[in-house]
Amino acid sequence: MSTERIKNLIIGSGPAGYTAAIYASRADLKPVLYTGMEPGGQLTTTTEVDNFPGYPDGVDGPTMMVELQKQAERFGTDVRIGLVTKVVLSEEQGGIHKVTVDNKIEIEAESVIISTGATAKYLGIPSEQRLRGGGVSACAVCDGFFYKGQDVAIVGGGDTAAEEATYLANICSKVTMIVRKGEMRASKAMQHRVESRENIDVKYFSEIKEVLGKDVVEGVSIINSQTQEILNVPVTGLFIAIGHIPNTDIFKGQLDMDDSGYVITKGKSTHTNRPGVFASGDVQDKDYRQAVTAAGTGCMAALDAERYLASLD
Ligand code: NDP
Repeated sequence: MSTERIKNLIIGSGPAGYTAAIYASRADLKPVLYTGMEPGGQLTTTTEVDNFPGYPDGVDGPTMMVELQKQAERFGTDVRIGLVTKVVLSEEQGGIHKVTVDNKIEIEAESVIISTGATAKYLGIPSEQRLRGGGVSACAVCDGFFYKGQDVAIVGGGDTAAEEATYLANICSKVTMIVRKGEMRASKAMQHRVESRENIDVKYFSEIKEVLGKDVVEGVSIINSQTQEILNVPVTGLFIAIGHIPNTDIFKGQLDMDDSGYVITKGKSTHTNRPGVFASGDVQDKDYRQAVTAAGTGCMAALDAERYLASLD
């Protein structure tokens, strides 16, 4: 196995990872960035990004990620395709973190920025998978605007679904909220917000049997688990809000995490419980999950890494 010693390793290639790379390379940390399995991260699965500041006409997700990569490379970031398969994070101030890539390359890093993101959960039914990008989305804040004045549906009963349903209710004519149990998991306050909106129709004990439409979403077929009754609701957009899974498996047992597996960072910083290891983006943020907030924490992680390394000199 080949071994390489570097100052700064960035794991992940979403807006957090690339922004960390821009800052770290400008600070002369000579970062190496490993992209992971999905180079560009979650934004490569969206179409138009209309809410990232600085793009008055919007930009499509994959283009934006290529531009971020180019920007990071312009300052010298070494962007490599590869999947981190194992980490041994030092507990010592100034300790070396050992990271294995693709089970064959060993990197010894003085500092590590974790930007591995989170993966949206989908229902997993074939019609939903087929229509991803054709009206099925896992982010109402990203894509809701495209359904202005139209009827949409949202699946889930947690805080995300409740929040996104109210968000959609401001834009769309009607929102059908599909909740699989007889109650929502969302906080009472969020539930009240949903109930107070006349254009949100909550269907309890309901699950999606099929997403209707050939190339674009035309409706959803819902089954009531109590009565077995099937209802077809015509909609043009379907939002899946059944939770995210942070990509933190390889850090388990080494980094402090919350009950859902999100990395815990200290106070307003990106410091984790291991010295020299920082976390930015969705991997440590289940509340905001926006490209711009991920980019912001990526910047913070690079600044924290720079200060940490400077403190060792
Ligand atoms: P949650 O895990 O809290 O909720 C997921 C919801 O999706 C549940 O209602 C669950 O149903 C449902 N669900 C899961 N799988 C399926 C499926 N296959 N089919 C149908 N429904 C399904 O995820 P959230 O993303 O809502 O929230 C994650 C965390 O982030 C929570 O701790 C939440 O409080 C927090 N959050 C806080 C916000 C805020 O404070 N403003 C905003 C957004 C999130 P069931 O209940 O039956 O299991």
